[in-house]
Amino acid sequence: MKKIGVLTSGGDAPGMNAAVRAVVRKGIYHGLDVFGIYNGYQGLMEGKIEKLEVGSVGDIIQRGGTKLFSARSEAFKTDEGQQRGIEQLKKFGIEGLVVIGGDGSFQGAAKLTAKGFPCIGVPGTIDNDIPGTDFTIGFDTALNTIIEAVDKIRDTATSHERTYVIEVMGRDAGDLALWAGLANGAETVVIPEKDEPFAAVVDRLKRGHERGKKHSIIILAEGVGNGIDYGKKIEEATQFETRVTVLGHIQRGGRPTGFDRVLASRLAGKAVDLLREGKAGKMVGIQNNQLVYHDIIEVLKESHQLDMSLYQLMEELSI
Ligand code: ATP
Repeated sequence: MKKIGVLTSGGDAPGMNAAVRAVVRKGIYHGLDVFGIYNGYQGLMEGKIEKLEVGSVGDIIQRGGTKLFSARSEAFKTDEGQQRGIEQLKKFGIEGLVVIGGDGSFQGAAKLTAKGFPCIGVPGTIDNDIPGTDFTIGFDTALNTIIEAVDKIRDTATSHERTYVIEVMGRDAGDLALWAGLANGAETVVIPEKDEPFAAVVDRLKRGHERGKKHSIIILAEGVGNGIDYGKKIEEATQFETRVTVLGHIQRGGRPTGFDRVLASRLAGKAVDLLREGKAGKMVGIQNNQLVYHDIIEVLKESHQLDMSLYQLMEELSI
């Protein structure tokens, strides 16, 4: 393999730039030409492709977002769209592609591989919802953004003796909410993976209040529902003054943490190794701090499992 491409797709995540940098630098180190594909699969179909040099990816390791931009493309979901993408890759002589993104992006990578074009997936999403890897690129940065925000909200919650509902991202996964709950010492975390009755949440809040607690913080995963509605329900059930904060897209941006930069560099480096070894249709991951890879098709069949021992621990610590 002499020429490879790299694209970012789906929701952006802090650390994607570090991953792009690693694909480019590692590829060049091993004598490959590396091409950047702009605007995800949409740009691939349109031929928005450019050869990248060592300097092209300078000064980006510390930046959030993605230098290659991202996009969602309905047209790429069709056979015709995928064929157009392959034609563009062939036009540039590109023989393998690294796709940095979430499970939707991996569907695309699996389709290209099935059509004979070798792809390797690198898990990049703040949601941490990809099977086959303990962590996805961006999760740690988003977690730290939430931690900082909740620390600040806690100050005002204490001063005003209020209940706060804080809605965090994660799609259908409760990872961000649960890890933030543990790190922030929240009383309650409401996540899709745990079907805790609403009455139990209300009881816990009331017990805390009777004990003289000055504030209560509930971290709500977006996969459970809307924070505003949840806050109203809590206020009606407890009669405690309740405020809601929806953290929203601030969770997707910002400088990647050291953990995410190193993770992104390791995963992307491994992706280049796999292409050089002639592998295709694989997703790289990290499990027990070891770099691993799995068939993308198998990853897409599985569902992400949240480590529920963390939930148990949080319950024990928030008595
Ligand atoms: P995130 O989890 O951050 O949203 P994602 O990769 O799951 O990231 P999606 O919007 O689901 O984000 O997918 C990104 C792109 O991948 C889509 O816009 C589409 O172009 C392509 N894609 C998704 N599903 C398929 C599919 N079944 N076949 C081919 N391409 C697909």
